[in-house]
Amino acid sequence: MRVSELQRMIAEIYLHRDAERGSEPTLLWLVEEVGELVRAHRRGSRDEIEEEVADVLAWLASYANLMHIDLERAFSKKYPGRCSYCSSTPCRCGK
Ligand SMILES: [Mg+2]
Ligand SMILES: [Zn+2]
Repeated sequence: MRVSELQRMIAEIYLHRDAERGSEPTLLWLVEEVGELVRAHRRGSRDEIEEEVADVLAWLASYANLMHIDLERAFSKKYPGRCSYCSSTPCRCGK
């Protein structure tokens, strides 16, 4: 699945609810999910870590939907297949 497909799928399922909640509360939910990932990383099973990684990505997609940000475009712009600071792959600058 491409990032754009993932983002569209999350919009189809959740955009109506995300829109009711609003962008900042959705961003806070994303932070909550990152907290759950930290807990799973420290004390959880591999399955729990996988589940929380998926939650983080889903909530990031929800937030991007509300902000009208195309995740795939934003990601490719910042990470164009090489380090955006030193233009090397792998990165040689350590930034
Ligand atoms: Mg979770
Ligand atoms: Zn670099």
